[in-house]
Amino acid sequence: ILEIKNLYKSFGKTGVLHGVNFSMEEGEVVSIIGASGSGKTTLLRCINFLERADSGQVLLDGQVLFDAENQGRLTGKELRKKQLNFGLVFQDFNLFPQYNVLDNVMLAPRLLAKERPDFKANRKAIFSEIEETARGLLNRVGLGDKLTNYPCELSGGQKQRVSIARALALKPRILFFDEPTSALDPELTGEILKVIRKLAEEHITMVIVTHEIDFASNVSDKVIFMADGIVVEEGPPSQVIDHPQNERTRSFLQKLN
Ligand code: ATP
Repeated sequence: ILEIKNLYKSFGKTGVLHGVNFSMEEGEVVSIIGASGSGKTTLLRCINFLERADSGQVLLDGQVLFDAENQGRLTGKELRKKQLNFGLVFQDFNLFPQYNVLDNVMLAPRLLAKERPDFKANRKAIFSEIEETARGLLNRVGLGDKLTNYPCELSGGQKQRVSIARALALKPRILFFDEPTSALDPELTGEILKVIRKLAEEHITMVIVTHEIDFASNVSDKVIFMADGIVVEEGPPSQVIDHPQNERTRSFLQKLN
């Protein structure tokens, strides 16, 4: 479903990505692990084109979705349309504080619906379908009883579950998580990991940047170990985490224990 080809990215003189390549199949869960500063967040941002890579390509279903060379020629609207293939869940939730939980999830789908040619004629039916989907998603992440609460009334774990529902509401082909539990207390981390595990069982295609090695090992079809802006080792967790072939992977995992 996704292929990343030769992504390079520098900030000024600091090279962060030095030719990242990997690919994944539909329905797979891929975890990206690696030391702080190895470029994991930058990689996610480049794949989602929140950051413009210096060179490289992102292919979706074998077609070039983003090409660093000509991204500058896309209009904002074209870029956003491409970005809709991907959903993003950040470490710090990014909810809209002025909207309740249900509205947080419905906002983007409603805005998008307004661009549909049949919107004026079918406004009521379209909005009620969006609401039904949003309620269903919030039930799925265990927040069916919090629909009218505001973000400030929720725990960190609940906020993160709203942001997962919100990302799913746009029906992305791939859901990306950037350290989804790093802003949470350990006791709240478990509830997010449970939701992600459930999504994996439902065969949602996911890329997860995480420091939770046990979780990555448990939930992933493939683990990618990054160091200094390249993929050092990739493979099933039984290889990369349990029997790493590369010295750098071994030393990273040893330091965690
Ligand atoms: P962590 O696990 O701590 O989140 P990471 O592997 O996600 O780390 P990145 O956040 O991608 O690493 O950062 C990689 C390097 O790029 C770091 O040295 C960081 O300082 C640098 N960097 C990231 N974003 C910028 C930016 N906007 N401007 C300048 N330097 C940046």
